[in-house]
Amino acid sequence: METVRPPAAGLKTAGCFATHITANRRLSANAFELTLAKPPHFSFLAGQRLQLDYAAAQRDYSIASAPAEDGLRLCIRRVEHGRLSEQLALAAVGTAVAFTGPHGYFTFKASAHPAVFVATGTGIAPFCAMAGSGVSGFTLLHGVETPADLYYRDFIQTRAAAYIACLSASRPADAAHVSGWVTDYLRDQLPPRPYDFYLCGRQDMIRDVTLLVDERFQGSLVYTEIFY
Ligand SMILES: Cc1cc2nc3c(=O)[nH]c(=O)nc-3n(C[C@H](O)[C@H](O)[C@H](O)COP(=O)(O)OP(=O)(O)OC[C@H]3O[C@@H](n4cnc5c(N)ncnc54)[C@H](O)[C@@H]3O)c2cc1C
Repeated sequence: METVRPPAAGLKTAGCFATHITANRRLSANAFELTLAKPPHFSFLAGQRLQLDYAAAQRDYSIASAPAEDGLRLCIRRVEHGRLSEQLALAAVGTAVAFTGPHGYFTFKASAHPAVFVATGTGIAPFCAMAGSGVSGFTLLHGVETPADLYYRDFIQTRAAAYIACLSASRPADAAHVSGWVTDYLRDQLPPRPYDFYLCGRQDMIRDVTLLVDERFQGSLVYTEIFY
């Protein structure tokens, strides 16, 4: 397994922007989608993130919308007692916010190897942006606690060659779901061969999958975006 630092070519230069919230939509009991008006001179590549500045706190969020969309959609977990996410969950339409960006290198790289996207929770955000910008034919594993957390499933399924919902805290509701962690599926179900893995979300998932890739999927590349 080789961990790759992608080239800077094509990446946009970060700037500082003032904008406002145009929509705040609940996705599940502990996640919501915040839409910001896209400033006229802001552009980004699918998979990049911005750093939001609100109420004297700065936090990174991957952009879930495609670059061609009018608004900037962020898929945010409401962290219990979290300083910023709890305030954003309650923020009204029209609220002014600032951000810097775009930041990051977690963009899709065309390759001869099949792409496997692995997300935990709101780690699905950059994969939504990639799917919305025309990336298709990938395998996507979304690790969540219950089916209610499978936000964006209907959209992503239209672009994925395979969509696997891994439920860690509930029994599968239908054949499209599997019980257990994303690592269980990768270890037991994904045929061994080289892939391009894109991993986004919790660092323990990223560590475990990276170890598994070394063990089982030699010759693969691994791209990562750690949320916490
Ligand atoms: C590169 C990058 C991209 C990110 N993109 C996203 C994104 O698209 N969507 C998103 O929801 N978050 C994302 N995050 C996490 C986000 O930046 C914040 O850390 C998160 O919203 C918590 O901020 P807070 O101020 O509410 O909590 P804080 O007061 O900063 O932290 C409270 C506690 O919650 C823990 N924590 C942080 N994030 C989470 C989480 N997601 N779930 C559970 N516990 C957490 C922290 O480790 C800390 O112990 C990203 C982080 C990074 C570094």
